Amino acid sequence: MNCWICKKNKADSKEHLIKASDIKNHFGEISKERPLFQHTLNKTKRPKKIYARQNNRFKQNNPTICSYCNNTKTQPFDNAWSRIFSYIQVNEDILTTIKVLELKNVFPSNTYKHAVELYLYLMKITGCYFSDNAVPINYNILSKCIRESKCTDHFNVLFFCIDRVTDLTITQIDELHDENGQAEFAWCYFFNTMGVRMSIESTPKQIDSTPYMWNPQRRKNLPILIRPHSLYS
Ligand SMILES: [Zn+2]
Repeated sequence: MNCWICKKNKADSKEHLIKASDIKNHFGEISKERPLFQHTLNKTKRPKKIYARQNNRFKQNNPTICSYCNNTKTQPFDNAWSRIFSYIQVNEDILTTIKVLELKNVFPSNTYKHAVELYLYLMKITGCYFSDNAVPINYNILSKCIRESKCTDHFNVLFFCIDRVTDLTITQIDELHDENGQAEFAWCYFFNTMGVRMSIESTPKQIDSTPYMWNPQRRKNLPILIRPHSLYS
């Protein structure tokens, strides 16, 4: 199988759906004496026990991306996520109160460029997660965006806060259909009292009907609005 992003190189790399740095940042060092348990919202699955340096269980099951695309090409995207994740960790109480995430506070210079990188990081992990699970979406739209550092109305992000505290959790992939039968595939990543929902729509949503939906090209230089209640609560 070739890499779903460049389509040229053999897929030889597995993406961390939860970054190792997120885990360290959130939980501190983990070890055999201090393991983690990976829960999913699928209650039929037993939590997986995770030790230091064995956190590849947060990785995809099968490689769908090449090392170049995963490490070199998308490094700035990973860095943008690390910065936003650290910022949210430190400022979570304020953010869940005011429900506004000002990107210029996180990225004081080149704010829009970094906003797109953040968006493309979430697109990358979504593409890896979906391709690993053979979700029937048009991967060409996503791979073109990642190769050209562009946004698309087909991929949108929603930041939200929830009432309860969660550990780092990724959900299953949900398939939703609107009244016209158009498909949307979505999943969420929860951390503490916040989460991010990533969705791919076969027909782009009207922005007016989805004010919390974040896409940097639609809300250029505007803050991310944090939705008060989870879609999954
Ligand atoms: Zn590649």
